[in-house]
Amino acid sequence: MKIHANDGISQSGVDALSDFGFTITTTNVAQEQLINYINENDISGILVRSATTVRKELIDACPDLKLIGRGGVGMDNIDVAYAREKGLHVINTPAASSSSVAELVFAHLFGAVRFLYDSNRNMPLEGETKFKALKKSYSGGTELRGKTLGIIGFGRIGQATAKIALGLGMDVAAYDPSMDEATVTVDFFNRQSIDINIKTCSFEEVLAQSDFVTLHVPAQDKPTMGAAEISKMKKGAGLINAARGGVVDEQALVNALESKHLSFAAIDTFVNEPTPAIKLLMHPSISLTPHIGAATNEAQDRIGTELAEQIKNLLG
Ligand code: NAD
Repeated sequence: MKIHANDGISQSGVDALSDFGFTITTTNVAQEQLINYINENDISGILVRSATTVRKELIDACPDLKLIGRGGVGMDNIDVAYAREKGLHVINTPAASSSSVAELVFAHLFGAVRFLYDSNRNMPLEGETKFKALKKSYSGGTELRGKTLGIIGFGRIGQATAKIALGLGMDVAAYDPSMDEATVTVDFFNRQSIDINIKTCSFEEVLAQSDFVTLHVPAQDKPTMGAAEISKMKKGAGLINAARGGVVDEQALVNALESKHLSFAAIDTFVNEPTPAIKLLMHPSISLTPHIGAATNEAQDRIGTELAEQIKNLLG
């Protein structure tokens, strides 16, 4: 049986699929040629990340297709309900990238409390001529230990973020309308671990108590953090969005940075991807990454092998 991964798949995924007896192709076929490619090559399963779309038209035009797989979480690029109605299997790998996104949150946080996002921009330009002035501007950083991390959305990534925070000696305040509490297992050296029970609190309590707020909610119709919500955060706090563009109102965020109500923001996911607003890209108090939360070798390996396991169980 043939599986085609149109947006690529890790070598571990290719190996696992081959071991299970599937033939796997990984050439990137242009969207408009994909229907022909699937039909001419007798493809039974198509795997995508976020670039390729699998819409009703393709599903109707490829009657022998049995499975659609998304490497990652969001399935906005697939007509999931329609495909399932037509009897296709639609699978994804929701847990594979949680640790990678959580670590990126901390990469931003550690950098932000010591002004690395700005220092890395200015040291190459002025480090040689204005070393002492730069040293002065980037003094007055803070430690993370003992501070409170507010987590909005306490699902897989929210809890993975809490694990790191707890391991660092931070306090955690979490809000999630779907749960009152969660037990987070923090793993240490030598296979030691501690289970920590976290009772969630109200959205308002999280905003009022937290030194930093990080968002881990699904895509929303309206921003979870607009001007009103940001104004309820502590003065001097930091806000991180590695969830989805639009969960933070970008203009309200810039206003809060300009008025110094917030001291920094970190953004991995933007409203207008792949052409984010220039006012965010140029802002000196924003730590920036181009939607790389899940883009680690480990996460991509897990995505590949998890897809292969599911395909074996469904089609093998
Ligand atoms: P999840 O489904 O495990 O958890 C999401 C949680 O958010 C759920 O528990 C839900 O009850 C809660 N929630 C929903 N609406 C809420 C609201 N308004 N306020 C507070 N909580 C709310 O999902 P996950 O795997 O943890 O993923 C979370 C987000 O991370 C998704 O938006 C996903 O798209 C995003 N993500 C980003 C990257 C990246 O590259 N930056 C990678 C993977 C996932």
